[in-house]
Amino acid sequence: MSKRSNPLQLMREAQNEILAFVRSLDPEVENFTDVDRVVRDHPEWDAAIADAYRKSGYLDLWGHELSAHPYRYDLALMEEVAEPRLLADMRAYCVGTIREYYSGGVRFSVNLAHYEASQQESPREAVGLLIDLYQTLVRDHDRRVETARQWLAKHFPEDVDQHLERIVPHTPLWFSIVDRVEPRLGAIARMSISSEQSVEVCSSCGDPANDYRIANAAEAMPGVPSLRLCDDCVVIRTVFGEILEAMD
Ligand SMILES: [Zn+2]
Repeated sequence: MSKRSNPLQLMREAQNEILAFVRSLDPEVENFTDVDRVVRDHPEWDAAIADAYRKSGYLDLWGHELSAHPYRYDLALMEEVAEPRLLADMRAYCVGTIREYYSGGVRFSVNLAHYEASQQESPREAVGLLIDLYQTLVRDHDRRVETARQWLAKHFPEDVDQHLERIVPHTPLWFSIVDRVEPRLGAIARMSISSEQSVEVCSSCGDPANDYRIANAAEAMPGVPSLRLCDDCVVIRTVFGEILEAMD
């Protein structure tokens, strides 16, 4: 890792710069929830706030993690880096990563969903920048956890079976995530469950179903960890580009 500046310090500096700028427009601003409110309520300040985001470096901070640990995002590089004496360390890193395969990235998907909803209501340049940022963070998280999973699947497949985070559809944990990243899916699943009087039904239509993980969730449904689907809904979703893998 680069010694010149610590990533948390850089993050704090960038955040302070943005807050200071928005506070110069509205002295009431204390945090980023307030910044979101100002962006929404004052379209006349939008371009200036978007500029402040750009100049602060806030939108590029994710690049530091990538350049510090490129192998975490690239299976071929990881194979090169994992020489025999580092095997145990790499294994421990990958196990720790797949234990939080879904929950580790939920905050990015939640923010993405939040800014996309805000953008639909009142389009802003500043919000567009944040949507790009969170799309990048969701995609990078997905690449990182997938790289770890694939490396383990090749070298220590038993670790994947034992440690890959499982979030079973229709459990309270599943709803707590889905309600934040894909609220319509949560609402439809609740309707199916209540009309069939069972949680063991298809999240979409209420028919008898099996559990799947979405292998390309970062593109298809950011943040959604799993689905309970009937055979027909699997076919429909596959046609629309979702890659579904059966969970055991
Ligand atoms: Zn169905």
